[in-house]
Amino acid sequence: MLIFYYNTAMKLLIIEDEKTLAESLKTLLESKHFEVDAVYDGKNGLAYALLGIYDLVILDVMLPGMDGYQVAKEMRRGKCGTPILMLTARSALEDRIEGLDAGADYYLTKPFDTRELLACVNALLRRQGAQVDELSFGSTVLDLASGTLACQDASIRLSAKEFEIMRLLLQNPTRNLSKETILSHVWGYDSNAVENHVEVYIGFLRKKLTAIHSDLSIVAIRRLGYHLEVTDS
Ligand code: CA
Repeated sequence: MLIFYYNTAMKLLIIEDEKTLAESLKTLLESKHFEVDAVYDGKNGLAYALLGIYDLVILDVMLPGMDGYQVAKEMRRGKCGTPILMLTARSALEDRIEGLDAGADYYLTKPFDTRELLACVNALLRRQGAQVDELSFGSTVLDLASGTLACQDASIRLSAKEFEIMRLLLQNPTRNLSKETILSHVWGYDSNAVENHVEVYIGFLRKKLTAIHSDLSIVAIRRLGYHLEVTDS
């Protein structure tokens, strides 16, 4: 029997140049079942944040190259609404105001208690609110809590990667998603996965769609990528 693992982990990004602190925060947050990426400078941090795959960004203010205020401003300018928890050694009121003006959602002064940090992270994630619990297109529904794909009375569990690809397709049903986009969302920005992985998992998903007699098909357009179409039955 196959047991599918379904991953509900929230993805967090830490942008912090003090590697010891970044790594200890990463370990702490991973122990709380978050998926965490750590980046050690502002420019790369901004590039990661703009991928739009994170649920929360923990952002240090004093960073080499581009400081945290600039990173926050550029994120907001790039229409990236991911909540930002700003970390800084500065505690003067003007600095806090500058951080909030730049687009930070909350401000934590170093040194902070890890319990306080976790409370802030949870509060900001909750505040995002309006958690959708299913996505649908045509008559096919993806249950986000169980990772089950259903059409009429038939349903099937998806593996973690299948689930993430299906969720991405359902979030952008008619838009073509390139293999590169799918790779960066599902496997991460710097994983060793290649475009062939995407093809293989699209193949798995097509089989599962067929298995539940879904009204959806995953259509491939050369060079542009994949989108969903509702087929008339
Ligand atoms: Ca710093």
